[in-house]
Amino acid sequence: MSDHDLIIRGGTVLDGTGAPGRTADVAVDGQTVSTVGRVAGTAEREIDADGLLVTPGFVDIHAHYDGQASWDERMIPSSWHGVTTVVVGNCGVGFAPVRPTDHQRLIELMEGVEDIPGTVLAEGLSWEWESFPQFMEALDPRAFDVDVALQVPHGALRLNVMGERGAARETATPDDIAAMAAQARTAVEAGALGFTTSRTLNHRTSRGEPTPTLTAEADELVGIARAIGTTGRGVLQVVSDFADVDAEFGLFRRMAEESGRPLSFSMVQFPQWRRQLDLLTAANADGVRMSAQVAPRPVGLLLGLQCSLHPFLRNPVFGEIAGLALGQQVEALADPGFRERLLAAARDEQRHRGHLLESFHALYELGDPPDYEPDPASSVARRAEREGRDPFEMVYDLVLADHGRAFLYLPFLNYNDGNLDAVGEMLAHPHTVPGLGDGGAHVGTICDASFPTTMLTLWGRDRDRGRLALPYLVQQHTRDTARTVGLLDRGVLAPGYRADVNVIDFEALTVRRPEMRHDLPAGGRRLVQTADGYVATVVAGQVTYEHGEAVGPLPGHLIRGPQPPPATSEPPGRREPVPRTGGGTDE
Ligand SMILES: [Zn+2]
Repeated sequence: MSDHDLIIRGGTVLDGTGAPGRTADVAVDGQTVSTVGRVAGTAEREIDADGLLVTPGFVDIHAHYDGQASWDERMIPSSWHGVTTVVVGNCGVGFAPVRPTDHQRLIELMEGVEDIPGTVLAEGLSWEWESFPQFMEALDPRAFDVDVALQVPHGALRLNVMGERGAARETATPDDIAAMAAQARTAVEAGALGFTTSRTLNHRTSRGEPTPTLTAEADELVGIARAIGTTGRGVLQVVSDFADVDAEFGLFRRMAEESGRPLSFSMVQFPQWRRQLDLLTAANADGVRMSAQVAPRPVGLLLGLQCSLHPFLRNPVFGEIAGLALGQQVEALADPGFRERLLAAARDEQRHRGHLLESFHALYELGDPPDYEPDPASSVARRAEREGRDPFEMVYDLVLADHGRAFLYLPFLNYNDGNLDAVGEMLAHPHTVPGLGDGGAHVGTICDASFPTTMLTLWGRDRDRGRLALPYLVQQHTRDTARTVGLLDRGVLAPGYRADVNVIDFEALTVRRPEMRHDLPAGGRRLVQTADGYVATVVAGQVTYEHGEAVGPLPGHLIRGPQPPPATSEPPGRREPVPRTGGGTDE
């Protein structure tokens, strides 16, 4: 008999509390950490972590795996990036509650807002549910590679209660509000971690209509928030264009204040982003729990022949081959005559509309590994200028590279200044947490679920315009994100906490170039992205991935509701381990 189930030996432990790294062993028994310190004795399994980092598993609170969790076991690509818990149902979109007659409407909403193809959703979703608790029942028996937590989305709620009036963004009546509030409350009581809504024009259904929740009025939002408040649990998440920063922030503050529940909002480098940080500071100083979810790099579009977008998508000559398979497109594009015709049409379009060349200033070749803070001097436009080449020709060749599998990168948010200095300021603010990875969504244009890896590599190691302390970065993506959504049982490596652990070769840690796979339901495509350097990932005490390869176990499950801190009440970060009863001879 071994003394422990698992011992991770001699690594540099960053325990999620922000404490500096220290050399320690981590012992795991069952699903929890039993010791962090010097561990004598033996284990069923030992991992030699000498020279490696040992961190809590990452908690990604901004994902959209609502559909994927219903048909797949693996929350890829997040689980390739050290993520051990995902929170889905963000931004007001999801698939419950739903009337049987509204399935197509919710598919169009998710297809439009999150760029998950309708065919994928139509084939993948089983629709065995109507109410939110029934959706939870459907996911309950499933096993995953990570823990999955749900939130109740306002878009679904509004359509379910108001039907056509909800879709048409009519003002909710007091009865509508009462019904939505009651259902939101029931969802949170059943185990939804929170309630989410969207107030951005960037979110539209696949028919191009604004999301049903875009213009929901204060009475509706505050009414629902208050109902959630009566449960004494649950969080609120919102995304907004912040057109009027003070008014919008004021509304969100009211939701948090009147419900007594914490609220987080998506934050990017909008013109008044510093004002948002100031308002956050003020709210928290007044005891109102609010935080911003920020991205550690640009929110970036990937352009290429395999993607939903590329620079010649609207080019009439390209239109001749738009319906062909990639291989045939590449063949056609390699033909000099075709090339001449297509480029002529592109220059013609430029003369008439003039938008293409401008975007070439914000367009970069994406290498392997990708550079997520590219020097503006390396943009397609600037390169073409330097090399005395026609920018259209350059883009043509870049798109055609690697047998048509190359990507161009268009950082479209957080890159106003051609660098990430503003992002650094956001990340360092005491009331922000990393988020916005959008795992499971935007599968044909964005691959940002690798944010946790970028957080460590770019901000902890590579950046020469200023970095942040590694213990802080780990804390942000573990304890802090977990706390933001009420999961107090994880995110810290200390006795009694859930044994979600990453063993990381920090020097080797690298985000690889994205790739397009065709493995969604109905053969749908999705961008995925691997990483080097994750030596092992442990979920609930079981090794799930080693060196990026799935090992087998699926210890993850649906999380029902907020989770209390460990009963051991060991203050996180305390050095002495709690003595184990029976077996081990801990320090
Ligand atoms: Zn989102």
